[in-house]
Amino acid sequence: MTTCWCGSTQFLPFSPEYAECSDCGTLISLAGKSADELSVDDDETDFYGKAYWLSHQSDDLGYPDIHKRARVDLTERNLHWLKTLLKYRLPGAKVMELGCSHGSFVALMRHAGYDASGVEMSPWVVDFGKQTFNVPIFVGPIENLDIPHGSLDVIALMDVMEHLPDPVATLAHCLKLLSPNGMLLIQTPQFRREMTYAELVKANGAFLEQLKSDEHLYLFTKDSASRLFRQIGAEYVQFEAAIFSQYDMFFAVSRVPFETYSQEDINAALCSVPNGRITLALLDLRERELASEADRIARGEQIETLTRITKESEADRAARWEQIEALTEMIKESEADRVVRGERIERLTGMMNESVASQASLGEQVRHLTDELQNTESDRKEQVAMLNNKLEKINAERAASEEQVSLVRKELRVLFGHRLFRLIAKLAGWREAKKLEDKINQP
Ligand SMILES: [Zn+2]
Repeated sequence: MTTCWCGSTQFLPFSPEYAECSDCGTLISLAGKSADELSVDDDETDFYGKAYWLSHQSDDLGYPDIHKRARVDLTERNLHWLKTLLKYRLPGAKVMELGCSHGSFVALMRHAGYDASGVEMSPWVVDFGKQTFNVPIFVGPIENLDIPHGSLDVIALMDVMEHLPDPVATLAHCLKLLSPNGMLLIQTPQFRREMTYAELVKANGAFLEQLKSDEHLYLFTKDSASRLFRQIGAEYVQFEAAIFSQYDMFFAVSRVPFETYSQEDINAALCSVPNGRITLALLDLRERELASEADRIARGEQIETLTRITKESEADRAARWEQIEALTEMIKESEADRVVRGERIERLTGMMNESVASQASLGEQVRHLTDELQNTESDRKEQVAMLNNKLEKINAERAASEEQVSLVRKELRVLFGHRLFRLIAKLAGWREAKKLEDKINQP
């Protein structure tokens, strides 16, 4: 493919299999098949033939096969699409689904009261849809069908636009089949230009699975899709919430401004027929399921938040414990230190007291000794004085007695003289008398 749907031939490299249009930003498959290759002439061998629906979907792409899809699509994407369709067109409108596959959406729309039919490329899958849901499905392409211009209210293209080899031609043809205020309802992958291929691969982005270059020939951005419809005369594009918003976009297209119905209008329309009421019940169940899903997600987030808070608080608690332990340790150390200091203080106080006491006792002793010394000194003086007195007395007495002795001697010498000497010499011998005489004569 050398030319973009917009006419540009200027491309930027994007991935091994896609280029990005420098002008409109659409991704263009480099391996894309031609319109001839994509039409189904032989259901057994052609690309969109029987094998595409039976083995390709499950074996090559990992999706449920068409039998399972005919059941599971009804309860999720078909109800999502129907809810949006009801907002723009009430039951009774004439709707054609292009690329209706097994036909479950056609069946649901008919159940709700729409005049709905489908188109598919493979005769095999058309038969499958007819047998499975008993709904009108035609073998396409739509350009080959004899549909009066302006006869359809809605054409739905769910996961179809990206497969179209010439989207401008096919969608312009669809617009011709619509009534003047008719609309297209489209789901297609959404390329976001801010994503690089390397970033997508690194993040394992959901959009990667849309890069199926043999099937998905154009991957539009919101802007490039809007530009395409403006180019073919439908300037009103209203984007709705896509059921797979991580890689899809979902929008309505019209040549005139949109008019929408209120929920009361929709409920009244569905309640007017028995099958409509059943459809409303299915929609109600889907809403309930989504609410419960949202609730589950919110609870999950709440649990995550609480778990995070708990973990943080746990970590905080652990940190506080460590702090408490560290402080306890410090207090213990300081306590031990205090005890040691206390002991030291006690010891020092004891030593000081002892020193004070010993100082006091020394003082006492010094005082005592001083007193004693003083006493002794005074005693000694007294004694000395007394002794001196005594000595004086003695000396005086001695002097007196010596005087007496000498007086006595004198008297004796006078008294006795030679008479006494002769008497004693006569009585005791001369020698004894001599001794006595010497004594008396002593000075
Ligand atoms: Zn382009």
